[in-house]
Amino acid sequence: MGARDYSGSLMVMLTYACQMRCAYCGVRNRPVHMGWETLRRGLDLLFTAPRQDLQLRYFGGEPLLRFGLIQKAVDHAGRSGRSVRHMITTNGLLLDAKKLSWLSGRDVEIMFSLDGLARTHRHRRIIANLRALQKSGLPYFVNFVVEPGGHEQAKAELDWLAGQGVRRVQVGYQVGTLWSPAQQRAYLDLLRRVPAGLDLLNRHNQAEPVMLSDEAIVDTDGKVYFDAALFVERFFPRLRRTMLLGRLDEGLDLARLERTRAEVLRRFKRAYPPSTAKGRLFLNNLGLGLAAGRLMERA
Ligand code: SF4
Repeated sequence: MGARDYSGSLMVMLTYACQMRCAYCGVRNRPVHMGWETLRRGLDLLFTAPRQDLQLRYFGGEPLLRFGLIQKAVDHAGRSGRSVRHMITTNGLLLDAKKLSWLSGRDVEIMFSLDGLARTHRHRRIIANLRALQKSGLPYFVNFVVEPGGHEQAKAELDWLAGQGVRRVQVGYQVGTLWSPAQQRAYLDLLRRVPAGLDLLNRHNQAEPVMLSDEAIVDTDGKVYFDAALFVERFFPRLRRTMLLGRLDEGLDLARLERTRAEVLRRFKRAYPPSTAKGRLFLNNLGLGLAAGRLMERA
């Protein structure tokens, strides 16, 4: 299975705070934020990559709670002479006209994450902000997470998104919970039944299995990890110990970090041996990711 190339890409954890409380979220929601100096050094780390096309990906929590920091980073990167695309993940609540106006015309892509209650109850502000985003001309895609047994509802959501004029979607599955064989089959079937008007990004991005993602993320305190350490921390808290790649103040070089899926697997197993309940949970989620990856390769 081909692996995604992250050699010119870096994630940053801008904040652990979020206005929502999605049950499936693996991030520990708390008021801890990144400062400008750490983000600036994160950009320096990205600039060590020997590539022309770079990508900085802002995650949280809700990154737009720290919009001022994003603006500083976009401006700073613009002055650097390097070509950086900024991908901002957001739950949509704060993506208002003022922010869209500032972002338009800059090299920015939005990952609009339709999460939890906002999705099922069609949160009015979020839907209005999605419409404004569509009108802004900024590149974007919609991301959402399917829970075990949630395939029928997810199918209805995909149909609804297609009807709203959304063209690109990414569909994920809840990790940190066991998927029965029947639930796994239903999820894979959902991926096969994406409406014709929607481009399913899972088909192109080689992101599976996400449990073995070898992308690096800069934490709020300047430590650099494999991203699983932060994104599934609520379910696999020991990963912080085993997934550390270094610290920004050590003068890291992105190209020299040992980032392979085999290395992530080794570290996962060290934290959660397969003989343990958490180890079996990890293998269950990994199995679903592998099956989804094989399906997308054939699509
Ligand atoms: S999934 Fe996204 S929107 Fe939901 S609590 Fe987590 S960070 Fe917030």
